[in-house]
Amino acid sequence: MNDLDRAAQADFANRFNRTATGLWSAPGRVNLIGEHTDYNDGFVLPLAIDRRTVVALATRTDRVIRVASSFAAETVAVSLDELVPENLNGWSAYPLGVAWALGQFGADLAVLPGFDIYVDSDVPVGAGLSSSAALECAVAVALNEVWGLNLDRPTLARVGQLAENRVVGAPTGIMDQSASLLGQVDAAVFLDCRSLAAEVIPLGLNPAGLELLIIDTRVSHSHATGGYAARRASCEAGARIMGVPALRDLSVDDLPRAQALLDDETFRRVRHIVTENQRVLDTVQTLRVSGCAAIGDLLDASHRSMRDDFEISAPELDLAVVTARAAGAIGARMTGGGFGGAAIALTPTEFVPAVQAAVLAAFAAHGFTTPDLFVVHAADGAARDGSPLN
Ligand code: ADP
Ligand code: MG
Repeated sequence: MNDLDRAAQADFANRFNRTATGLWSAPGRVNLIGEHTDYNDGFVLPLAIDRRTVVALATRTDRVIRVASSFAAETVAVSLDELVPENLNGWSAYPLGVAWALGQFGADLAVLPGFDIYVDSDVPVGAGLSSSAALECAVAVALNEVWGLNLDRPTLARVGQLAENRVVGAPTGIMDQSASLLGQVDAAVFLDCRSLAAEVIPLGLNPAGLELLIIDTRVSHSHATGGYAARRASCEAGARIMGVPALRDLSVDDLPRAQALLDDETFRRVRHIVTENQRVLDTVQTLRVSGCAAIGDLLDASHRSMRDDFEISAPELDLAVVTARAAGAIGARMTGGGFGGAAIALTPTEFVPAVQAAVLAAFAAHGFTTPDLFVVHAADGAARDGSPLN
């Protein structure tokens, strides 16, 4: 049992005056490459990271659900008979939304027992590392087991997505939950967002003397929500005008025709998606053939495409990327939805301290918020932690 497990177990006992019967955890994730491709039916290549959300749980003999978290003072209680999306809001919409969504995938909520859950986590919230999916997936694997549902992992990913879409109200794709459920140590998850086929791709970072450094800018620009919706609308318009179901159905060979048919802005949005899908495929191929030391140029090209064509970067992200590269990273890009959040820098182990120092100094010189820098390792997906308690 690790420190987080111990904390969750102790916090559960303090909050609920009873003993948890099990611990389950799920990781956050970072996307190595493939940005905004998910809702275009395209490809993504995320990895689960060694930052996790743990839930301590015990079922009840009545129909009450109680949820509590180290992130929140209150305990939220609701009856399983009143578990409908309209009744759920705030942070508890994530765990309670998962319970509701399991009902949409076959759990008979009319007869199942209630439960108490306490949540502890070391996944930073809002940094683009998907603390939301970590929470959803930890709850999903826990309830899948104690409610005896036997749902497979791809289905649990859809449960988490449904909770986020319908209960929380965030129009997100399936990537985050897939990474959190299917991730493996030192590997990425290659996901086809159309077929939902997933393949584990070995990374071999540490044998190659490389580390994946996260640079969390700790800024979130106010146009993030509107910007996301506008990018989705541009992609839909581009696909419609090009006469394809989704931008996934275009290749780089279609770009001259796209340029002739589309206005300049829509064309550049389309070009990002088309080239980014190709970069994901190229990254997977490069990892297989040449290894991770050869993917730096693809990361750099992805960042340029997001900065210039998709226009979702931010001054802080551009500075993080340029500075990390100058200080020894072999490839760097913003990751996540954009307009703030985090960048990743693939960095030779011996240069990690130099990159960290250079980024901190550059942010200070620009008067930017001090960023948070840390190394992550690809980790296993959601699981029960240890044996049943007691
Ligand atoms: P992220 O990029 O971290 O996924 P989101 O906005 O999608 O950012 O999700 C963050 C939200 O998820 C938080 O505001 C909170 O409502 C919920 N959340 C995540 N982790 C926890 C936790 N450990 N305890 C309670 N709520 C959490
Ligand atoms: Mg999220």
